[in-house]
Amino acid sequence: MPDCRFCGAPLRLTFVDLGKTPLANSYLKPGDLQHIEPVYPLHARVCEFCFLVQVEPVVPAEEIFGHYAYFSSYSKSWLEHAADYCRMARAKFALDTKSFVIEIASNDGYLLKNFITAGIPCLGIEPAANVAEVARKNNVPTEALFFGEKTAGAIAKKYKKADLIIANNVLAHVPDLNDFVRGFKTLLKPGGTITCEVPHLLKLIIGVQFDTIYHEHYSYFSLLALEKIFAFHGLEIYDADELSTHGGSLRIYAAHSGEGQKTSVQLKKIRADEKAANLDKPEGYSGFGVKVKTICAELFTFLEKTKAEGETVAGFGAAAKGNTLLNVSKIKNDSIKFVCDNNPHKQRLYMPGSHIPILPPQEIFAKKPDYVLILPWNIAAEIAQELADIKSWGGKFVTAIPNLRIWQ
Ligand SMILES: [Zn+2]
Repeated sequence: MPDCRFCGAPLRLTFVDLGKTPLANSYLKPGDLQHIEPVYPLHARVCEFCFLVQVEPVVPAEEIFGHYAYFSSYSKSWLEHAADYCRMARAKFALDTKSFVIEIASNDGYLLKNFITAGIPCLGIEPAANVAEVARKNNVPTEALFFGEKTAGAIAKKYKKADLIIANNVLAHVPDLNDFVRGFKTLLKPGGTITCEVPHLLKLIIGVQFDTIYHEHYSYFSLLALEKIFAFHGLEIYDADELSTHGGSLRIYAAHSGEGQKTSVQLKKIRADEKAANLDKPEGYSGFGVKVKTICAELFTFLEKTKAEGETVAGFGAAAKGNTLLNVSKIKNDSIKFVCDNNPHKQRLYMPGSHIPILPPQEIFAKKPDYVLILPWNIAAEIAQELADIKSWGGKFVTAIPNLRIWQ
């Protein structure tokens, strides 16, 4: 039985056991298809003491993120989200040319670019060396490092402590959570702020978003668990926003404990919502597995039916979450012929497990499938707009989560 990544207690309660699947981001080259693909247990458990939901780190982070191929810059709505954040942060924290902003897991610099345009000094810390290189070419100062207490100390010495530390969608990917949060404490200037965005566990539970569970996502956070973790390391969460990104995210604001920050009304509201959903009790986490089985059965049955009737189905969006959905639902390339994706780095590769080929988006219009299954349901509206012309041949859209929905 594994131990809790934060508090060390044995993890006795299952949240959902999704069986064995390949790594959701291990896209395959044509030559890989003949080889046996490694699969790993994907079993999410909840700690009954701190209520952190987590999966075992079956693969070291270095292996997953050393050459991470995901460039956030490819989604338009995501770039807008980054620009909005920068505008908000500049006003809220009164940032100017004397401030110092550090972003952890800064990717190709798509967010920090906004601070640079505004003349605010900043630094990106990005573990994937190839991605950090792209950021530097974009004139975003970036160190290619894994973040933790040691890195934070070195950065504070080489540069200085930060007025604002940004860590968006990275906390979930951190195997040594305590070391990472100690890094925040080390690198934050007195009076400074940390903002972190994480997919909100409450939304995952309500929306049965089980496809956001994959090996590279080690932890799934409620505000309740985050407050315990930050407090343990001398940091206090004093405010939070609920965001629509990733199907419902939390943005938390934290400062050094004891700096007299007022707890916001919004933070109290989220605490109350989580309490109402029993997230402070084991009951809040039970029954999730049954809902997952229903979704998978619904999708599998739909695809079998289309196959029997000679109809064709294509997928759209070769996102990691799509791989969890397809692999847990036992869907292969006989029922979905191809998946299209805008990211040229993914095109001509194959989806792990299902071995569905990934093709450029124009293939949808060349092959005219009867249905397009949108895998990243969180941006379904944006994708449906992009593919609106499928109506010309009577094509329909499908999403599987939180239940099967077919529309035109
Ligand atoms: Zn725990």
